[in-house]
Amino acid sequence: MTQPSFVFTVDCREPGAHIYHMTLEIEHLPKGKHTLTLPVWTPGSYKIEDFARHLFHLRGEVNRQAVDVHHLSKNQWGFDTFAEESRVVIRYDVYAYELGTHGNHLDQSHAYFNGAHLFFLVDDYKAAPYEVRIVAPPEWHVSTGLDPVDGAPFRYRASDYDILLDSPFEIGTHRRLTFTVDDKRHEVAIWGHGNEDPEQLTRDLSAIVQAQRDLFGELPYNHYTFILHLTDRGTGGLEHLNSTTCGTSRFAYKPRKNYRRVLKLLSHEFFHLWNVKRIHPEMLGPFDYNREVYTHLLWAMEGFTDYFATLTLRYANLFSLKEYLTTVADNIQAYEKKPGRFVQSLSESSFDTWIKLYKPDEDSPNRTISYYLKGDLVGLCLDLELRQRTQGRYGLDEVLRRLYRRYGAQGVGFPESVYQETVEEVGASSFQTFFDQYIDGTEPIPFDHFLGYAGLTVQRQYKRSDRDEGTNDDTPPQTSPKAWLGIDATLSNGRLVIQHTYSDGPAATLLNPGDQLLAINGYQVNTVEELEERIALDHAIGDTVEVALFRRGKLERAAVTLAPAPPDDVRIVAAAHPTAEQKALFEAWLKTPWTALEELSPGQESREA
Ligand SMILES: [Zn+2]
Repeated sequence: MTQPSFVFTVDCREPGAHIYHMTLEIEHLPKGKHTLTLPVWTPGSYKIEDFARHLFHLRGEVNRQAVDVHHLSKNQWGFDTFAEESRVVIRYDVYAYELGTHGNHLDQSHAYFNGAHLFFLVDDYKAAPYEVRIVAPPEWHVSTGLDPVDGAPFRYRASDYDILLDSPFEIGTHRRLTFTVDDKRHEVAIWGHGNEDPEQLTRDLSAIVQAQRDLFGELPYNHYTFILHLTDRGTGGLEHLNSTTCGTSRFAYKPRKNYRRVLKLLSHEFFHLWNVKRIHPEMLGPFDYNREVYTHLLWAMEGFTDYFATLTLRYANLFSLKEYLTTVADNIQAYEKKPGRFVQSLSESSFDTWIKLYKPDEDSPNRTISYYLKGDLVGLCLDLELRQRTQGRYGLDEVLRRLYRRYGAQGVGFPESVYQETVEEVGASSFQTFFDQYIDGTEPIPFDHFLGYAGLTVQRQYKRSDRDEGTNDDTPPQTSPKAWLGIDATLSNGRLVIQHTYSDGPAATLLNPGDQLLAINGYQVNTVEELEERIALDHAIGDTVEVALFRRGKLERAAVTLAPAPPDDVRIVAAAHPTAEQKALFEAWLKTPWTALEELSPGQESREA
């Protein structure tokens, strides 16, 4: 019997209506009951999306006769065939007006889609090859990680259903830049314009590719596609096997401090081609697209990707030493401000991502911790601990290389226990306490201890609230804490509204998220800056202030006794009296001479004991 074949046609010729006209042609489908299933989520974005909500006009024919295609569940349809082999044609329309890296968007300027929005799985034919044909307005062209079918324009082949869903398409009149590393073609498909510098972008991407290639030893693809969306807002990134989609604000490419975030995003998504797309626990591929999949390891998949994204930017010399250390210090500051770090462990954060990280609410900082943020910091600590225990022989990159060789390069996932086992094998010692405390537990992370291995220490201070105009970043911070109300507020429709109240802050049981702030001690406050200045400059820790507010439209008053604020100027600096061993570990870890650190903080340069 001939194996069935599957061809999807995506017709984008009605862009103004935001509707893809879809056709699925199946040849040689054997006799029986058949099921069409549309995914309810897309890998890399751990949220039930129910893409079927945009699908309509579904109808089918079997051997040229109309057939009843009946709805089985929110994302499944069924039909029957009676001949030994049938030719089946399924037609349907999909509304596509959701911009975003995991979205589905069709308008006058382009088409962009993730396969999970458009492509049915037929029965259990996950291992079968799939062909995609694109029908587009005449001047449009296509960028995708899929391989074209030889000689036929607008035709692409995926070797199986997972790869079909793992290969987004950008179709339109977008710019296409290319560069080569190891004789492999890299394409940058840019939709939209802004203040980007295409030459610098290509140069920087090439440097990222090379730095990460050096870390793993090879580029495990034939070609790679960066799809870049430049719009009025950042939409993040999504990783794929040999492509990525990143959405940035169109004006995020200048000044330098904004461009740093773009570089970080691109580096993160590219690193994923190893970490999570190839190195991953069994649950993360092949995927069950029909329901949530659970893993305790997203801190390693996302947090460690963040860690190496920044580290390899330093290796590529795209981040200066100061920029690297500032990034780490900012993470420590953000982590230490969140009471949720003592409530939720990294492994719980990972397991619960479907209902917590991807569904944040006003109380999230108090009850949850991001596996990106804490995972990045735990990656740093684990890297330094491994380097210390192995006298500089191995770091965390060796753990990833071994997992890549044994599983990633073989195309299989690993059982979850393998992660700790591999760390212990590389470190030639037990890491049970480390995992118990910082991954499965909520112990505070002693950053000075781990950074101390590299001769560094954390300085926790406060931005001067009485800074005169004209002072700059180099103005020394103050060492004594400022007064704090214990809330985050934001300006919304001209109203100053509380976003979060911190459970360890003085207003935890007095002020509520959603309260509209009106006045402090009878004097009106209008903006976040005004509120912060008034509290920090005109009041002291221990003062009780009267906060006037509207709560659900009713005027209320609350007396709040101001507490010390968490540090808002955290820096990483050289420890006093670093040893030769500490300096050597620093240099091997950051591939940066110790003297570069001394040049950063003149007056603080250390002397050997
Ligand atoms: Zn990621």
